[in-house]
Amino acid sequence: MKTANEIREFHNIINGNLISSSSGTRIESIDPSTGKVWATFPCSTSQDAESAVEAARAAFEEWSSRPAMERAAFLRQIGDLIIQHGEELAELETRDNGWVIKETSYGLIPSLASLWYDAAGATAVGSKGETVQLGPTSVGYTLREPLGVVVGVLPWNSPLFTFSIKAAYALAAGNTVIIKPSEMASIASLRYGELINKILPPGILNVVSGNGVEVGDTLVSHPGVNKISLTGSGGTARAIAQSIARKPKPMILELGGKSPNIVFADADLDKAAQGVTIYGIFSGNAGQLCVGGSRILIQRSIFDEMIIKMKEVIAQQIQLGDPMNPKSSMGPIANSSQYDKVCSYIELGKKEGGEVIIGGRHGGAALLPDDPQLADGYWVEPTLIKVNSNSLRICQEEIFGPVATVIPFDTEEEAIAIANDSAFGLGAGVWTSNLDRAHRMIRQLESGNVWVNLFRRVGPELPFGGQKDSGFGTDSILEYTREKTCYIEIG
Ligand code: NAD
Repeated sequence: MKTANEIREFHNIINGNLISSSSGTRIESIDPSTGKVWATFPCSTSQDAESAVEAARAAFEEWSSRPAMERAAFLRQIGDLIIQHGEELAELETRDNGWVIKETSYGLIPSLASLWYDAAGATAVGSKGETVQLGPTSVGYTLREPLGVVVGVLPWNSPLFTFSIKAAYALAAGNTVIIKPSEMASIASLRYGELINKILPPGILNVVSGNGVEVGDTLVSHPGVNKISLTGSGGTARAIAQSIARKPKPMILELGGKSPNIVFADADLDKAAQGVTIYGIFSGNAGQLCVGGSRILIQRSIFDEMIIKMKEVIAQQIQLGDPMNPKSSMGPIANSSQYDKVCSYIELGKKEGGEVIIGGRHGGAALLPDDPQLADGYWVEPTLIKVNSNSLRICQEEIFGPVATVIPFDTEEEAIAIANDSAFGLGAGVWTSNLDRAHRMIRQLESGNVWVNLFRRVGPELPFGGQKDSGFGTDSILEYTREKTCYIEIG
């Protein structure tokens, strides 16, 4: 049991200072593995959000006028600092949202540092224009300029990654930044901002926690903000679009998904069984992944064989348990409202005629009876639900948890039709040994990212973005710049 004096307090970072909410109000952070409060953070006000915009605007001229190589040097130092504080940051991310420490330590932290190093290398690209000889005495060229103040609005499922990918490239381009973490998971972001502010001069990177409807809306609709990058739900994207409708500004939208993960009979079935279960959905943050392969499509001739293999892989490789234990491979659902949502979708799946073929149970007392500390945590078993139609709500709506539907298909054409029968278009997996088929699938799948014989790999080398209701734009240096066109007569 935690006692009150163990509860830690975290603060906003505005203009380089650690600051509480102007109202004095705080939000309790709940450890999802225990259901107990472990920290508090500011429930900021519109006034706090305005102070952050003021600080970011004031810092813009100084930061944007530095040579690109100087900005790059700062960003490399931030990458180094992340590695030095890797253990602390991994633990905070794990406590914030239950993502197992095995993944936050060994996978997440190095990937964050890579983003800052990559952004440092991209600063030159972000300031490069084009020159065109328009005639013997006239020349034209383009200048790339930073936009001004960028607001990054974060989700709860992956705070540090989304923080980094927005802030690193926006700063690299010469913008100043305000990060608004989710009210469901703000701690790791607040500490991350505090650490980054040990390196950057004041005002260049600010972090303000609080509710979306007050702090988030004040930031995105503020006339002093020039670009918004939201990672979140379609509902929030629509609310922001309405809020800025009278004075539109550019947005990057990284929204939800309902990714198909398609297994053909000619695939390496052992590899596929692991790919669609462990990498596809269950190991990554208990399925709370935008790209989670939550619709597993299996060719009918291998359907039963694959189910047996998938059951074996899950039994052998998924260890549900305390996310701070390095042996755990799947943690809890990140918060109580998401837990209720995931549980209600499992019940809905049964009502819709789905057959739960693996898992389906929930609750700490039922799933982890040997650890009473975890009894009130938000635990859900890895769950597979066999269905015969992709039109069910559990196949069409984003569940965002360790729950996948399993759908049989006969032909390649049918697999494509089922895969594309979705409002979303974020990720898709294809498991096949037929290269021609792989290329046909890549071209026909309506998805921002397609993985063949692997799933979920992302990195700074390639863009990551969505199609359809999964959003548009990618967090990259060019998206945080604008072009200015110049014509000169020199004759
Ligand atoms: P959410 O939309 O509820 O909240 C996201 C953020 O928006 C929060 O910080 C919230 O405070 C803020 N917000 C809410 N209303 C606002 C408003 N009116 N104005 C400004 N800000 C506002 O999303 P969530 O539940 O935190 O995150 C889960 C969603 O994010 C899922 O749909 C998931 O698929 C998606 N996601 C997408 C990606 C991707 O890269 N495509 C990555 C991770 C998560």
